[in-house]
Amino acid sequence: MKQPIVNCPHCGKIIVWDTTNRYRPFCSERCKMIDLGQWASESYRIPDAETDADTEKQKEDLFKDEQ
Ligand SMILES: [Zn+2]
Repeated sequence: MKQPIVNCPHCGKIIVWDTTNRYRPFCSERCKMIDLGQWASESYRIPDAETDADTEKQKEDLFKDEQ
């Protein structure tokens, strides 16, 4: 039986869809971890950005007081 060929969702490398590949549809553990890491960072990006913006504004306010 011919096995399907897929592209790694992260790097695009062509791999054979093998049920013994525990990282499928990724080509390797590295690509899987990177892709999952991006998902995690995206879900936290918005609260982080808001916190950073608040911090920057507080810094600006501090500098204004000093001047
Ligand atoms: Zn890959």
